[in-house]
Amino acid sequence: MTSNTGPNKSLPLRAKVATSVSKTAAALSRAAGRGDGSVIGGWIGLKIDPDLLSHLAAGRRVALVSGTNGKTTTTRLTAAAMGVLGDVATNSLGANMPTGHTSALARAGHTPYAVLEVDEHYLDQVITATSPHVVALLNLSRDQLDRAKEVAMMASLWRDALRGRDTHVVANADDPMVVWAARVADSVTWVASGQRWHDDSWVCPECGAHIERVDGDWYCTGCDLRRPVPQWRLDGDAVVDPFGEHHLVTLQLPGRVNRANAATALAVAAQFGVRAADAVPRLGQVTSIAGRYATAVRDERTIRLLLAKNPAGWLEAFDMAEHVPTLLSINARDPDGLDTSWLYDVDFSPLHGRPVLITGDRAMDLAVRLEVNGVSFTHVTSFARALAAIPPGRLEVIANYTAFQDIRAELDRVN
Ligand SMILES: [Zn+2]
Repeated sequence: MTSNTGPNKSLPLRAKVATSVSKTAAALSRAAGRGDGSVIGGWIGLKIDPDLLSHLAAGRRVALVSGTNGKTTTTRLTAAAMGVLGDVATNSLGANMPTGHTSALARAGHTPYAVLEVDEHYLDQVITATSPHVVALLNLSRDQLDRAKEVAMMASLWRDALRGRDTHVVANADDPMVVWAARVADSVTWVASGQRWHDDSWVCPECGAHIERVDGDWYCTGCDLRRPVPQWRLDGDAVVDPFGEHHLVTLQLPGRVNRANAATALAVAAQFGVRAADAVPRLGQVTSIAGRYATAVRDERTIRLLLAKNPAGWLEAFDMAEHVPTLLSINARDPDGLDTSWLYDVDFSPLHGRPVLITGDRAMDLAVRLEVNGVSFTHVTSFARALAAIPPGRLEVIANYTAFQDIRAELDRVN
């Protein structure tokens, strides 16, 4: 909600004008049916006042959340946990670059807190603009065709972004690339968030030697880089805090990976003084995020949508999906990346024993991949045919970006 009091009062004139124009542009863009307007609004605001993001962040205590996977969900969970303290501004629609941050803060009006999801590439810039109290780092893995080399480059950018900053870092102890980047920070809380995807971190970013993994522990065979002792960890369905206290976390979001995201959210909120016991009930109220994990019922079939944008995301989705009929859908349009060779980076064998259906523009590429893994499947030409092909009951849908959007649109139509 917009308010005439609070930080706007103290904004420089240029920032006030920029904020007002930015909000108007966002509203116009929404009215014209061009999405939620947060990108265009923020863009115009920043054109008028290039320092608008720092002006809007001033006076708020800010947490930033970044990483290749899980940042939208973790941002939502963190904002929910921080709600214990008061109003929280957040870019909950996932517009995670400075234009989106600017728009989110302008739209929220005065709030004492902000939790912002940040695209990995913009972390340095957004830290500079918002002087966050806490930065949370989840994982680094390849997106689409980006290779391990680019993951190492991103870790190096993060490391430079964190060095010498007066900010607390909450970081994943299980991802060697994240640990290497985060350990330059003055103060770090380590969370055992897990790492399902190891292919981007076999080589030490410090010395180039091999990284050894043994029973959840890992260490570099050539230098002192090793898994730090985590202060926060999971124990079954519980998050264990630094005092060893167990907090049973009941989420509406599936999988171990989301419990790990909850642990990160609690660790971030704790840095602002939130007690885990107070925040846990709020985490259970977070439901689907931009349709991810959304459940719909059609023709006695309960359908759940899981978005998988990159190889690490696919492995996480296999873990979240129940052992019920599963529809996989893959496109290779611009937002997905045009090349499907990443399919060979993912081990599809967890799907053994489940009835698997495939669809999407690139179903044939998927078919070849599943053959290689010896997973049997049925090809269907549409989502409607997938529904017709399974008995009443549950269906898990795992899809990459535009395939996911297609199925959401189709579900809305059937609605
Ligand atoms: Zn090393």
